[in-house]
Amino acid sequence: MKPYPWKCATCRTQAVEPATIPAYVADLEHDGRKYQVVVENLDVLQCRHCGAIVLDDDASDRLSDSLRAAAGLLSPEQIRRHREGLGLTQKQLASLLRISESTLSRWETGGQIQQRCMDAFLRVVFESVEARSILGTALAG
Ligand SMILES: [Zn+2]
Repeated sequence: MKPYPWKCATCRTQAVEPATIPAYVADLEHDGRKYQVVVENLDVLQCRHCGAIVLDDDASDRLSDSLRAAAGLLSPEQIRRHREGLGLTQKQLASLLRISESTLSRWETGGQIQQRCMDAFLRVVFESVEARSILGTALAG
């Protein structure tokens, strides 16, 4: 990796360096709703000259985590743990939910955040034997 400081994409000055933002505030949108999230001690890259902030993958992940929490959605780990607790493969659960395996995989790795309706559907499928039975029977038939 190139040594710091990097060139700023905003002001073109060679002044971009690692920085920690004590309370990073972001207005984010998910599934048609707006959420304001605050992330404490966020490690970012920032231009000393103009203040422009660049988020790396870790910083973006932390923002996604905060957004999930603000929206009250299951985390990637929770989805994976519930699925494994039921002894289901990704392919089996995806089939029950009528979604593609790649979509479920992205939910479990955090690459994508599930819509609110799918979050509710996940909870029903995880908690209810009857729901899983209905969905599984319909598949078999
Ligand atoms: Zn700059």
